[in-house]
Amino acid sequence: MQRTIFDHVKIFDGSGSPSFAGRVLVEGERIAQVAKRDEPLIGAADATVIDCAGATLMPGLIEAHAHLTWPSSTERFEPRFMLPPEEMMLAAARNGRILLDQGFTSAFSAGALGERIEVVLRDEFKSGGLPGPRLKASTIERSPEGADGIETGKKLSRGRGPEAMRGFVRHCAEIGIDTVKLVLSGEDALLPGSSQHILYDEAEVDAACDEARLHGLKVAAHTQAAEAVKMALRCGVDVLYHCSYADEEALDMLEAQKDRIFVAPAIGVIVATLEASPPPHIDMRSMKEMAKPVVENTQRLIPELHRRGVRVLPGGDYGFPFNPNGTNARDLQHFVDLYGYTPAEALSAATMLGGQIMGLGQELGLIRQGYLADLLVVEGDPTVDVRSLVDKRNLRMIMQRGLFHKAPQPIAHAA
Ligand SMILES: [Zn+2]
Repeated sequence: MQRTIFDHVKIFDGSGSPSFAGRVLVEGERIAQVAKRDEPLIGAADATVIDCAGATLMPGLIEAHAHLTWPSSTERFEPRFMLPPEEMMLAAARNGRILLDQGFTSAFSAGALGERIEVVLRDEFKSGGLPGPRLKASTIERSPEGADGIETGKKLSRGRGPEAMRGFVRHCAEIGIDTVKLVLSGEDALLPGSSQHILYDEAEVDAACDEARLHGLKVAAHTQAAEAVKMALRCGVDVLYHCSYADEEALDMLEAQKDRIFVAPAIGVIVATLEASPPPHIDMRSMKEMAKPVVENTQRLIPELHRRGVRVLPGGDYGFPFNPNGTNARDLQHFVDLYGYTPAEALSAATMLGGQIMGLGQELGLIRQGYLADLLVVEGDPTVDVRSLVDKRNLRMIMQRGLFHKAPQPIAHAA
């Protein structure tokens, strides 16, 4: 079995506790041992030793709101949103590799623009056929036909009512989806005011969640209005995105289910909207107006959820031209700047809590014996400055499933 020792590293183990100097032994796809300072490593005689010269070793990052099919990335500006299927497949595969290049070894999808595309990509990434994150695959985001939801295609819309919802979820299970995405309230950036519109009846959401449980699928939901958050919680939605207009009752309900649910505000797209300086023919004025209260509200809500122990994760709707895939690590800095997280807390949310949202909390997201070896060697100390993670040149090594995606560079010596 392949054995690798990361020697001379500062270990941030993902839990949020202080980093410590040590060494880590990887055997096959798992972490075999974590040693503090000069504690001996057992059974490591034939291991390859990599001197990391004091760099930080941390768990791979996990994106909680990924859209691999949203086409724009740091490598490819794409003004269109919905690409033809052939181009979409290539863009999504490229985006998977770009996320991995940026240290995101796992991603939880918040919806795709094609029906089976993420299932195919998930399996391809898993087999090693193409580089990309461990993926919880989703399909087309479902909003009711004719509703002012997010327009992401109608192929899977199968009418209204609880039975239609059950049929949709059963279909998702049949095609191999991991997580279903429901659009429970509208989106102001697309239609001002619609964030307060509830697009589904409770009986429909209840049926969808019940059917999902039967098939072992997760349910994620776009929830902006307070009532959308509450309906999601009453019905058993697992992952709540945005929650920008949660009221006191919604906060209490989120707290009451904190060990079951995850929240991701997806603040990246909001900050990027406010920062964007589009060319004159693109009018983002309305979007910018709609983004302002989201920042203000979540600056109040997210620290409160954090204080109450609700699991809040970075992940920011990346994939627009002004918010491209590949800039995902910016979300961690937003948690620090806007929500009062320490860098270590933001890192822990993107690693330890990320393992939990992936359904692998017992084996992913921490540097612990027996955990999966999804690891980053980072220049400098991200527990002091998480901004460093945005620049992939600071990622000296990227390991996923015990294999190097980015291998250590040989050190050049003068002749
Ligand atoms: Zn999204």
